[in-house]
Amino acid sequence: MDARTTTRTQLQLAKAGVTTAAMHAVASVERLDAEFVRAGVAAGRIVIPANHHHLNLRPIGIGTDLCTKINANIGNSALSGSVPTELRKLRTAIQYGADTVMDLSTGPDAPRIREAIIARSAVPIGTVPIYDAMRQVEDAADLSADLLLTTIDQQARQGVDYMTLHAGLLRQHLRHAEKRLLGIVSRGGAILAKWMCRHRRQNPLYAHFDDVLDICARHDVTISLGDGLRPGCLADASDAAQYAELDVLGKLVQRCRKAGVQAMVEGPGHIPLDQIQENMEREHVLCDGAPFYILGPVVTDCAPGYDHITSAIGGALGAYYGAAMLCYVTPKEHLGLPNLKDVRDGVVAAKIAAHAADVARGRPGARERDDAISRARVEFDWERQFTLALDPERAREFRRAALRESGTGHTTPQDATISGPETTHYCTMCGPRFCSMRLFQESLRLRRETPGGKRQVATTGSRAKPRRRSDSL
Ligand code: SF4
Repeated sequence: MDARTTTRTQLQLAKAGVTTAAMHAVASVERLDAEFVRAGVAAGRIVIPANHHHLNLRPIGIGTDLCTKINANIGNSALSGSVPTELRKLRTAIQYGADTVMDLSTGPDAPRIREAIIARSAVPIGTVPIYDAMRQVEDAADLSADLLLTTIDQQARQGVDYMTLHAGLLRQHLRHAEKRLLGIVSRGGAILAKWMCRHRRQNPLYAHFDDVLDICARHDVTISLGDGLRPGCLADASDAAQYAELDVLGKLVQRCRKAGVQAMVEGPGHIPLDQIQENMEREHVLCDGAPFYILGPVVTDCAPGYDHITSAIGGALGAYYGAAMLCYVTPKEHLGLPNLKDVRDGVVAAKIAAHAADVARGRPGARERDDAISRARVEFDWERQFTLALDPERAREFRRAALRESGTGHTTPQDATISGPETTHYCTMCGPRFCSMRLFQESLRLRRETPGGKRQVATTGSRAKPRRRSDSL
């Protein structure tokens, strides 16, 4: 039975003991038992963002017990971007391994971009509805609860699979934010803070959370509880503001579950390495195992232009300590709207972080990929190495360019499969005479060909006969 033929959510069906087609699909990809996935969804430890209206969706599961997922943010701004540009970014993000894509468009074309992205995306699409609402008013103070709810409803009907809603940032938290070095760096958080200060009223997303739940339950929109108070620099990490909001997010998780709405929780931000474990564990306890979706964390503030690396370092550690999904960060973070190359670099960096964590957490198939590429490396099977690489095109480009520059390889487009013994059994890093893997293989061959060599090899592993010095290579 597929939830998408009903009006019930994956969570409601899982709780009723139904294993949906989406749950079977997730189990198959994750190499897990479908009942394990159903139980995880029922408990709220796994979410399957799958809006009833997103027709060409390939469902994925997000949860600590599953492989680490990554998200890529795309979308235009008022100053840059268009439908064709954002669709190219969508294709690039998916090509390099994004499991979900968030459309964060804030420019005038936002509704058309969102519609086009949903129609062409097989991966779940997320949004931040307050951006769309903000587009329709002059100032943050002009927003209203009605406009926010209408926008959420419109996007739910359009097929958005998950929505970031900063419902946990409360008016009383603002006094903590005042003490920060960078204050509020989340766009949604900053908009709501201004609204609360102007109207002296509580966050409308919090005040009307039951109405939000009604909409999300009707269309099976997963709520991604946004962290409007995520720290934007190391000095603000793990502070009173961040943790006060997290307490509220934990309570909202329970309200979501009670209403049959799937929920995950968003996390920091900028966090020094030594505080990442504590952050992940605190979320896990306060939010009762709800999937943690983290932005970075960026582990140093000093590397503008390289924040895909600073965030991948934090993301790997975050995922190792239990985060379920990493939001990519591109090299343009803090500097500008990412272009196609930035999207590719950001996705691959996040993919590396996620895979490293999956290897360490023993996720099915993760370590096997590393062992397979290592075998291909020692066999100088370049094509297999490229196939197994997290970015095959980059590996192929580099190999081809290196051979071309050194004058040892072919220089035509047919280089894709570089052949010939002189070019295959080394690379330009060490060259043929210093290629350690080649030298070692020649050593093994000599050893095999040396009279008595086979006998020596056979006895090397024997505990009864310790190796003699002359046995060593
Ligand atoms: S030349 Fe050096 S870097 Fe290249 S394959 Fe051989 S050992 Fe590895």
